[in-house]
Amino acid sequence: MSIPVNPPSGFRDYPPEACARREFAIRAISEVYRSFGFQAIATSAVEDLAVLTGKGGGENEKLIFKILKRGEKLDEARAAGGELADLGLRFDLTLPLSRFYAKHQSLLPHPFKAFHIGPVWRAERAQKGRYREFYQCDADIIGSESPLCEVEVISAILTAFKRLGFEDVDVHLNDRGLVYAALEQAGVPEDKRGAACVALDKLDKAPRETVLAELTELAGKTAVDALQKTLMSGAENHADYEKADAARYSQLRWISQTLAQAGWSRVRVNPSLMRGLDYYTGPVFEFRHAKLSGSLGGGGRYDKLSEKFGGPAVPACGGSIGFERLLLLLEESGVAAKISGPEFCVLVFDESLREKSLALAARLRQAGKSVDLYPGTGKLKAQFKYADAKGAAVALIIGPDEAAAGAVKAKNLKTGDERMTAVEELLRSEPQSA
Ligand code: AMP
Repeated sequence: MSIPVNPPSGFRDYPPEACARREFAIRAISEVYRSFGFQAIATSAVEDLAVLTGKGGGENEKLIFKILKRGEKLDEARAAGGELADLGLRFDLTLPLSRFYAKHQSLLPHPFKAFHIGPVWRAERAQKGRYREFYQCDADIIGSESPLCEVEVISAILTAFKRLGFEDVDVHLNDRGLVYAALEQAGVPEDKRGAACVALDKLDKAPRETVLAELTELAGKTAVDALQKTLMSGAENHADYEKADAARYSQLRWISQTLAQAGWSRVRVNPSLMRGLDYYTGPVFEFRHAKLSGSLGGGGRYDKLSEKFGGPAVPACGGSIGFERLLLLLEESGVAAKISGPEFCVLVFDESLREKSLALAARLRQAGKSVDLYPGTGKLKAQFKYADAKGAAVALIIGPDEAAAGAVKAKNLKTGDERMTAVEELLRSEPQSA
């Protein structure tokens, strides 16, 4: 049987150009997060299953890639017909952050502003923009109840989008507490409220009649009539919605107005925004772009999540950039990934001059120049082709004549100009790019 060369469905390889585009976006996002005072953290890809389950991860908990127990423990579990797995791959960055905080909080500033960029894994059906391995770029503030956290997190994410050329990102805002208050007020029984949220979440994707029918079956016509004036009232008319919980509503207004004053005018309260995860407790938000059907990112307040990890019950708020969708937008808008080539590529004339070539590369590198060295010997034509493919600005060769004269031949790969030069001159030269 031949071994497949494609990665498994939903997983991808990244050739140099794709990698360059990803690195470019990650660098821009990191720089923006840092400029807002968020500090980088990293956590392990693999977590104890106890960290990933029963913590409000909602549907995502069903998508965990589990890792089998190993050795004797696996044999014992098999014999006992018990759980065969004990570890799993993280499916988001929020649960790992909460665990991280429970462990490290005494050493961290308070409140703690963290950013966390890395891959997460979900065993879902792969399609365009939906993968089984994808990156998230999170910014979180732990330890403050202030709505300034929402303003900071949303501003940081919008600034990152802007830095990458997307100013036309809409922000939808809602509040979980306000949603539950409206459901209670409408007379939706407590045990049906979760399912009602799932049905309401479909308003953006399914016809209104379908959602109405589902809700009527769930909670009855009177409740649905009430919901039409609140959670289903559309993005503009909030008179009844506001009454469900005036304090929470006025906080949402404050967040959107404060962001508008700071120049972010595309933020609005949307009563039907649900966001899937059960761990949210207050304001929730989602970033959307006209060219994408799904969201470009999202987040919200998840107070008390750290309590589930044995830590104190601390308030927390965070947002996540859907990195893969952002990359789709970058690709579509033709942002070319520029692979920055080395300034010099040192070619190897023949085996007798190998050491001299290596010494030249080492000397230039020591002086801080970026230098590729052709890793072999062979026809110079093939070596020039290599230098070109690597995007080098200048090819350097020490042939017998140059070696005898203690000099170097430099060929500008853009203009084709060739000249003999001294190493000292190369060291003094201004950096050149291809
Ligand atoms: P969530 O943790 O489910 O709230 O997702 C946060 C962001 O990650 C979403 O806004 C999506 O843009 C992105 N996302 C979620 N699932 C996937 C996936 N399977 N592939 C790529 N991006 C995803």
